[in-house]
Amino acid sequence: MLKVPRHLFVPDYLANQAYLDSPLPIGYGQTISQPYIVAYMTSILEPEKTDKILEIGTGSGYQAAVLAEIVDSVFTVEIIDGLAEQAQQLLKLLGYGNVWVKSGDGFHGWKEHAPYDKIIVTAAPEEIPQPLTEQLKEGGKMIIPVGEKYGYQYLILVEKKKGKVLKKNMLPVRFVPFTRDED
Ligand code: SAH
Repeated sequence: MLKVPRHLFVPDYLANQAYLDSPLPIGYGQTISQPYIVAYMTSILEPEKTDKILEIGTGSGYQAAVLAEIVDSVFTVEIIDGLAEQAQQLLKLLGYGNVWVKSGDGFHGWKEHAPYDKIIVTAAPEEIPQPLTEQLKEGGKMIIPVGEKYGYQYLILVEKKKGKVLKKNMLPVRFVPFTRDED
């Protein structure tokens, strides 16, 4: 996280607040997560050098950049075209050649590159999207906030072990809602 220039991932007028431990608006009604939460979710996944990771909710691209510093490749999906484009340009400018950004509804994951060692979701659905569980490797981990829109939500750790899907509540959180293309 010390390597990733967070001030470049927030609007210019907020650059002076980029190193506070706080979420910040990034336009389109969305936010860049609080650094504590980025660090927490990253560490829960226990990312390894060889990992291929799927992120749903690219936003500013900051979480993708933090992961890209550690792992082999990051595939990230963002439902708001403007944010996807902006993040893609910034990540390219900063030399993150191991991040691929796609604009679309992340409910469906990113099938072409599945299965993934780890999956990270940074917007909160009311239930875990089934395609994401399907695209997780055996032995893989997913961290996802689940709960009511703007209400009670929990970060859930999902692990696929011996064909079984195990779920564990980790931390109460507040994320922006997971939206759908039909909305
Ligand atoms: N990881 C981001 C945090 C962005 S906030 C960062 O580091 O900046 C969550 C993002 O999820 C928002 O940009 C929102 O548009 C996006 N999102 C919400 N529902 C989505 C969906 N169904 N598919 C893909 N992205 C989604």
